[in-house]
Amino acid sequence: MDYNKLAELLFPNTDKTPEYYENLYPARDLPEGCKVTRMGPSPTGFIHLGNLYGAFVDERMAHQSGGTFYLRIEDTDDKRFVEGAVETIVSSLKFFGINFDEGAVLDEDGNPTEIGSYGPYFQSERGPVYQAFAKSLVEKGLAYPCFLTEEELAAIRAEQEAAQETTGIYGKYAEKSRNLTLDEISSNIEKGMPYVIRLRSDGNLTGELKEDGTPKLRYITVQDAIRGKVSMPANDQDVIILKATGIPTYHFAHVVDDHLMRTTHVVRGEEWLMSLPIHIELFEKLGFEPPVYCHTAVLMKIDEETGNKRKLSKRKDPELSLDYYRKEGYHPQAVKEYLLTILNSNFEEWRRDNPDTPADEFAFTTEKMSSGGALFDLNKLRDISKDVLLKIPAEELADFLVEWAREFKPAAADLLGGSDEAKAYLTKILDLGRQDKKPRKDLVYASQIFDFISYFYDKYFVIREQIPEEVSDEDAAEILRRYEAGYDHSDDQSAWFDKIREIAVDMGYAAKPKDYKKHPEDYKGHVGHVSTVIRIALMGRSQSPDLWSIQQILGEERTRARIKALI
Ligand code: GLU
Repeated sequence: MDYNKLAELLFPNTDKTPEYYENLYPARDLPEGCKVTRMGPSPTGFIHLGNLYGAFVDERMAHQSGGTFYLRIEDTDDKRFVEGAVETIVSSLKFFGINFDEGAVLDEDGNPTEIGSYGPYFQSERGPVYQAFAKSLVEKGLAYPCFLTEEELAAIRAEQEAAQETTGIYGKYAEKSRNLTLDEISSNIEKGMPYVIRLRSDGNLTGELKEDGTPKLRYITVQDAIRGKVSMPANDQDVIILKATGIPTYHFAHVVDDHLMRTTHVVRGEEWLMSLPIHIELFEKLGFEPPVYCHTAVLMKIDEETGNKRKLSKRKDPELSLDYYRKEGYHPQAVKEYLLTILNSNFEEWRRDNPDTPADEFAFTTEKMSSGGALFDLNKLRDISKDVLLKIPAEELADFLVEWAREFKPAAADLLGGSDEAKAYLTKILDLGRQDKKPRKDLVYASQIFDFISYFYDKYFVIREQIPEEVSDEDAAEILRRYEAGYDHSDDQSAWFDKIREIAVDMGYAAKPKDYKKHPEDYKGHVGHVSTVIRIALMGRSQSPDLWSIQQILGEERTRARIKALI
C-alpha cells in the first residue's frame, strides 16, 4: 500500500505538516524545572469540587515552580456544550483564587476569548491541527480508515461478548479494515461511505508464551507523580483517533494538544488511568515525549445513611457543585485551606506550626497526595472555616458578606452595606468577641453568619426562643420593666451586671448559679435565668455573644425599644 497516496486521498486539503506546527509552537522559554500545567474541562456547565481539587494541584504545581497554568476548553463534543459554560468555569475558579496565565479567558464584557501563543485553546478551533497529525500517522502506515458500520460493530461486539473476550477493534477484529486496498478505500469514499480513522496498534503481545501456554503480555510502565510506578498491559486496541465527522476523540486531541502546548504535567482524574496505555502508544507513534501524569484520587465521603465510604455524587450531594459553596457563602480562603488539607497529608501539621503564613507558601508536592480516594468532610471544612474567618479582619469580612448578599440575598444587601454607616455597624457586629483572649469562633459561612447576626437588624429580628421555665410570665415582665427603668447606656460592664444581679436577688433568684444548684428549694432560679429573659428580649434567642457588648452595638434607642416591646 502506498501510504502517501492513502493520506492524500483521506486528507486532500491538509497541507500543513507536523513540522509546521512544531515550529509554530516552539519549546517554552522557561527556566529549567518550571512546570506547565493545564485544565481541560468540557463545557458542560457543571463545574464541581473535583474540578477545583484538580485545578488546585495544577495551579500549585505551575505557580510554585514559576511555570505556566493554562485553560484549554475541550469542546469537541457539541452535544455536551452548554451556553455560558466557559464563563462559569472561568468565574467560578477565579472566585476560588485560581487564575490562569494563558488560554481561554473572559474579555472586558465577560465574553470568552483567549490569550497566549500556543492557541487556539478551544479544541473546536483546532481541527486543522488534528488533521495534520492524523495525516502524518496515515503516511507512516500508523493509522488507517475504517468503514465498519454500526451493525458490523454491534455484530463484532456480540461475538466477543459470547466468547467472553475483550470488546473493541483489535487483533483479528481489526484485520478486515486494516487490509483494505487503496482501490477499495477509494471506491468506499466515492460511494460516500462514512469512516473513522483508527490507530494501527502494535498490540500487547510479546510473541512469547507463558508456562501455561497463554501468550505473554507486553507492559507499559509509567512513573505517575501521585501514584508512583504504574504498570499496565500495553494497549492493543485500534482506537478511533478521528470520528466520522473528522472530530478527534479525547485520546487523540489531548495527546496532540498537550504536546504542542508544551505541557509538562497532566493532572486529571483517576477515571483516565485505564486509558493510559492508549495515550502512551499515541505519544510513541506520534514521536512525542509524554508529560508526567498525575492521576488524582476520586473524592469520597462517608454516606450519612450507611456510614460507608462512597464517591461524591452529583445527584445525592449538593456539596459536589461549586455553586453550593458560593451560595452558602464559604470564604474562598476557607475552601482553599480545606482542599489543601485533603490534598497534602502534611498540610495540617504545617498550618499548626505556621498559623499566620499565607497558604501559598506551603510547599505542595504530588508525592504527599493520597492515591486511595480523598475523603471529603463538610464538617471539617466548617471547622477550618472558623479558624480562617477569625484571621480575616472584620472590615474585610464585612465586604465579603456584603458582596455575598448582593448576589444571594439582595433584599438585605443595602441594609448590610449600602452606606458607610451600615458598613461600620456590620463591621462592629462581626468583630464582636473576636478580640478576646479566647476568641469566639461562631462565624462559619455567609448564610450562616447572616442568620447568626440577623437580630442586629430590626427587619430580621424575631423572638425565636421561649423564656426559661424557671421564670413566670409575670416575673419576666417585671424583670424587663425594672431593667428598662434602671438602664443606663453608659454603664460599664460591671455596673451593668450589678444591676441585673440586684434585680435577680430582689425578686428571689440566686445571685450565683451554684447557690441555686445547691439549694434549689430556696430560689425561683438564678441570675442566669434573669439575664436570659433580657437576652431573649434583645436578641430573640438565649445563646449569643456578650450581652453588654451587643447592647453597645445596638445602641440605647434600639435596646430600650426591644425591652419595651417584649413587656
Ligand atoms: N475533557 C476532559 C474532562 O473533562 C479532561 C481530562 C483531562 O484533563 O485530560 O474530563
